[in-house]
Amino acid sequence: MELCGGQTHAIVRFGVDELLPASLTLVHGPGCPVCVTPIELIEKALEIAARPEVIFCSFGDMLRVPGRSKDLLTVKAEGGDVRIVYSPVDALAIAKENPAREVVFFAVGFETTAPANAMAVYQAAQQHVANFSLLVSHVLVPPAMEAILSSPANRVQGFLAAGHVCTVMGYTEYEPVARRYRVPIVVTGFEPLDILQGIYMCVLQLEEGRAEVENQYSRSVRREGNRRAQDLIREVFKVVPRKWRGLGEIPQSGLGLQPRFADFDAETRFGVADRTADESPDCISGSILRGLNKPLECPAFGISCTPEHPLGATMVSSEGACAAYYRYRRNEISAGS
Ligand code: SF4
Repeated sequence: MELCGGQTHAIVRFGVDELLPASLTLVHGPGCPVCVTPIELIEKALEIAARPEVIFCSFGDMLRVPGRSKDLLTVKAEGGDVRIVYSPVDALAIAKENPAREVVFFAVGFETTAPANAMAVYQAAQQHVANFSLLVSHVLVPPAMEAILSSPANRVQGFLAAGHVCTVMGYTEYEPVARRYRVPIVVTGFEPLDILQGIYMCVLQLEEGRAEVENQYSRSVRREGNRRAQDLIREVFKVVPRKWRGLGEIPQSGLGLQPRFADFDAETRFGVADRTADESPDCISGSILRGLNKPLECPAFGISCTPEHPLGATMVSSEGACAAYYRYRRNEISAGS
């Protein structure tokens, strides 16, 4: 299982999986942050973004992720002030320029984006920017791996870990996972050759009966990671239970704001913390994110679900597995039908 949506796209785009022997199957994991954001967080975002006093800032991918009846682009079309930004610090700048408005940043992502979001909150606190807050949906990779490995339906025998997450966090926290579940984990980059080498290292471990953490992406990743970034994450965020699309609630699998920064929590500021919502029953993305199905096995793929009219987040995001198959493999459906 490759853990990163960027790796999934490289695999599908360059046909890496089609080069492998039939005995080796690549399955696509929960490594796209947009895809694993649960629908109830989307509903909370929609509710906050529709408020007249709010400027709602987000990375572009989130704008087309469907909630129960609409997405953030629809809220924007209906008059909501929804803006695409390229960094949470840009959202902080908007807050400083608009002191009479409430500026909310949709803080979605894995450990990779946590340092930048932590920095935005840290600076907001230091500079007393009271009209800035985060809608936090941060998730952590190792607890998701454990949830997959401990499921009775699991069929994953080795992981390609995400090189950019490990650039920040290092890979010491993967070592107990490899030992406990007897599963090889190879920290891997994103180019086709990186992925081929990561697969080779993983298979070599399986053939030799080893279950270790190895680092294919050594040009970027050190075992201990980026300590300064980790310190900043720990200062601003604490580890909390988090709900994942497809995987349900996983204990200690996400980040929430530390009590010291609780004033910057948009969920409490706008009173949406208790909202719940169910996923579309037609979308099997939960099963895809656990490696149990592939996008072409979804009955809705390319028919009622397309990038223009997505039913699930995995068809929207630039890192989503369904979007990758739609872009590079959708002809296989018509060829096979
Ligand atoms: S093709 Fe669409 S409906 Fe099917 S799993 Fe992917 S996102 Fe969900």
